[in-house]
Amino acid sequence: MYELHHLKGNTYYIDGPTNCGVYVLNENKDVLLFDCGTAEDGPKIYNALEKNGMHVTHLVFSHCHADHSMGCHYIYERTHCKMIASKVERGFFRDATLDRGFLYGGYPLDEYDSKLMHVDSNDEIYSLKELPEGVEFFHLPGHHFGMIGLRTSDDVYFVADTLGSIDLIERAHILLIYDVKGYLESLDFVKSLDGKIVVPSHNEVTDHIAPIVDFNKSNIYDIIDILKDFLKEEHNCVECTSYIFDYFELKITYNKYLIILSTIRSYLSYMSNAKMIKNYFKDNRLVFKAEA
Ligand SMILES: [Zn+2]
Ligand SMILES: [Zn+2]
Repeated sequence: MYELHHLKGNTYYIDGPTNCGVYVLNENKDVLLFDCGTAEDGPKIYNALEKNGMHVTHLVFSHCHADHSMGCHYIYERTHCKMIASKVERGFFRDATLDRGFLYGGYPLDEYDSKLMHVDSNDEIYSLKELPEGVEFFHLPGHHFGMIGLRTSDDVYFVADTLGSIDLIERAHILLIYDVKGYLESLDFVKSLDGKIVVPSHNEVTDHIAPIVDFNKSNIYDIIDILKDFLKEEHNCVECTSYIFDYFELKITYNKYLIILSTIRSYLSYMSNAKMIKNYFKDNRLVFKAEA
């Protein structure tokens, strides 16, 4: 773990709980780093680059979540690199309460971990217009508001949290999704990259991504079917969330509840918008029911 691996041409990655991309920009071994792990990962990633004589001049974030961004304090202090993120994600970097407020749907309880989701940074973060030559971004809707991936000039694709490994899905059962429709579209895009080198954040690097995409898609359709079945009787969102915890025998914690409640809201919106279920008010509750 935390080793620098060469992929193709100027493109490398560092393996870890969150795989990070590395693109060599010039002969001085100045590099662009794509994501930088947690606070614990930051020093290890920095050392892996130093060991190989590489200096970070650009740090690009796929999105604001802590496992992709918290390492930035350690790396920025030592390099004063140019940090770059998409417009919406830059907003989330500005205040740690934004993401918790979004997930909770109001002012969150004190029990929620303020460091759960992402870094609170006062350092300047620049727009995607500042990306150096040799890399281009693409939008990856679904997991978070403004998540992006990167394609390097070596035709290597970094696809962030578009998908989880089979092992992760088998353990977690349900991954955080903000926009189910966008998530499915992003999965289709990543599937179209089959045959190219693809680096997901939480799966091994592969040039045959299609089976992992299919596994992720079928997991989403399974959850839709489980909810549809439960919604043969009318239920509200909180009841659906509780059912999902029971169904997968998930251990409940404040943070887990926050993530799954938000994700179930997103599933119910997707299913209702796609007319798989209907929604209506009953006894001053917003309830959902499968179409007969
Ligand atoms: Zn994430
Ligand atoms: Zn992640």
